[in-house]
Amino acid sequence: MAVSSGNMYDWVGLTWNPEAGACPHDCSYCSTKHMVYTKASPKYQGAPRLWPKALAKDLKSGQVVFVCAQNDLFADLVPPFVISVILAKCREFQGNTYVFQTKNPARLGEFAFPKDQFPAMCIFGMTLESDIAYPTVSKAPAPCERAYHLGQLRVRRRQAGFQSDKFFVTVEPILLFNLDAFFDDIDYVRPDFVNIGADSKRCNLPEPSADQIRALVELLREKRYEVRVKPELRRRFGVV
Ligand code: SF4
Repeated sequence: MAVSSGNMYDWVGLTWNPEAGACPHDCSYCSTKHMVYTKASPKYQGAPRLWPKALAKDLKSGQVVFVCAQNDLFADLVPPFVISVILAKCREFQGNTYVFQTKNPARLGEFAFPKDQFPAMCIFGMTLESDIAYPTVSKAPAPCERAYHLGQLRVRRRQAGFQSDKFFVTVEPILLFNLDAFFDDIDYVRPDFVNIGADSKRCNLPEPSADQIRALVELLREKRYEVRVKPELRRRFGVV
């Protein structure tokens, strides 16, 4: 999630952060961690928990709301109570579309089946930086595991009649990858769109070359996927 501390997507109208605590995935490029170091923010330290002030916010209607953009609401260590309370608040404001992005899609399923706790209009997203697991970069589940669970969730939700759901994969920050295996992971999810961005904070990550990124973008577009290229990727790698 927290690659940039501002609005991560130009199609999102509101980022809403009712969850506090340090994110268990502990990604080396995380902007939330950076914020904790630089501003000594107490909100994103300690155990995952609710942040009452944000929870009380009037979410209004007609907005695309990114839920918990500064941590991962569906990380294994987040108490079920915290997730249920936040989803209940979303259901109170059904006039919005909610974005739930995670690196642990297996846990999304626990709140979708057997009892669906999600609001009516959802966009489910998954961060997938590469097909390769980089344990020194992130403690999140392995990429193939993430792809498997989001793909399965998509199939089960479609079968259960949730036709308005949207799914996306966000490749940000993009890391060195194997083209065919990475494409297969993304393709397994059958996302409505793929977002691709680069390491904007220059965290010394293992990055692919511009040619490798272009090959991935071309392959995705050839297979009719909508690819949304983030400005940093355009600026640094010349990919459009
Ligand atoms: S998953 Fe957690 S640690 Fe990783 S970037 Fe997102 S908020 Fe930060």
